[in-house]
Amino acid sequence: MKTRFGEFGGRYISELLLPVLEDLEKAFLKAKKSKKFQNKLNEYLHFYAGRPTPLYFAENLSKKLGKAKIYLKREDLLHTGAHKINNTLGQILLAKQMGKDRVIAETGAGQHGVATATTAALLGLKCDVFMGKKDMERQQLNVYRMKLLGANVIPVNTGSQTLKDAINEALRDYATNYSNTHYVIGSALGPYPYPSIVKYFQSVIGKEAKQQILIQEGKLPNYLVACVGGGSNAIGLFSGFEKNKQVQMIGVEAGGKGIRTGLHASRLTKQGTKGILHGSLTYVLQNQFGQIKETHSISAGLDYPAVGPEHAFFYETNRAQYVSVTDSEALQAFHLLSETEGIIPALESAHAIAYVLKFAKKCAKNEIIIVNISGRGDKDVQFISDLEGVQV
Ligand SMILES: *Cc1c(COP(=O)(O)O)cnc(C)c1O
Repeated sequence: MKTRFGEFGGRYISELLLPVLEDLEKAFLKAKKSKKFQNKLNEYLHFYAGRPTPLYFAENLSKKLGKAKIYLKREDLLHTGAHKINNTLGQILLAKQMGKDRVIAETGAGQHGVATATTAALLGLKCDVFMGKKDMERQQLNVYRMKLLGANVIPVNTGSQTLKDAINEALRDYATNYSNTHYVIGSALGPYPYPSIVKYFQSVIGKEAKQQILIQEGKLPNYLVACVGGGSNAIGLFSGFEKNKQVQMIGVEAGGKGIRTGLHASRLTKQGTKGILHGSLTYVLQNQFGQIKETHSISAGLDYPAVGPEHAFFYETNRAQYVSVTDSEALQAFHLLSETEGIIPALESAHAIAYVLKFAKKCAKNEIIIVNISGRGDKDVQFISDLEGVQV
């Protein structure tokens, strides 16, 4: 297994964690080869989480935009409402196999915290979730969900009291308690082997999508489009087509209030620079002294100052293109998909749709686009109705 993607990735961590990550790597490689592990994982993915998810031809949307045929990979239909459960099921089964009886996780908006708490309840492990104090105030419903699921939510008071500080705390806890604890990282980031582990567990998205498009269209798609926070739903979809050079991969970052305002989370659209965050060399939004900048996005899931290292590699080698759309473009796409297809997407996924609204018009007739609908919008409905001043 690769420890780096080109120069990106690596293990820039306290030496306390080195043997821990080496153990994790060994256990992961063993699980990958174990029939028993694979069978158990596939069983849970199918009977518990609801895989395979459909690849849906969005005929109304395609007609509306003309030309391209748009397919939606429906990760929003999974249990807990997003792709995150693919990764938590994989990692927590792995934790059990390693003999751990406790998992920890970080969470920003609460989605990964909820998926981890859900899976820990299912598999009978203790669960502590680190969450910035500010995020806890903004996401009270998800805090309560995690408590209902039997998890303990630990407020993080350091730094900006948001996601990056929660990851720091989780890494610290992991270094101290690794003998009985596994740290379930929520996206394709962090020190090696995490980006590769998360990619592996999310690659089920791309594997299914490839089989499905070959059955439904008899050929490969021209384009893949997915939103990029840390980058796990995108890398999961991309992985199925990575070796098919004719398939163009497009990652959509959060343009926030517009790149020029500085209020965004666009690390790969010429705004970020090479740097190290959370154990990995990648593109980071930082100042000249390496201090991490504050980011902004309307969708909490895309609001992270670094990007998974493999995306940095795809960016540098031009294997994938990265673009950004603004908060208001994402909001428009959120409404448009709801009205034309009856599918309310997560605000994160609405970023991918927003780019497709612009891009599909430039495509040739019958070119095929697969868009990853990483999650459903139920979690965002209250926020958007408040934002738009709608009386409910
Ligand atoms: C967390 C989340 C994201 C962003 O995370 P990635 O690791 O970039 O996929 C995107 N969409 C939804 C619905 C999420 O919950």
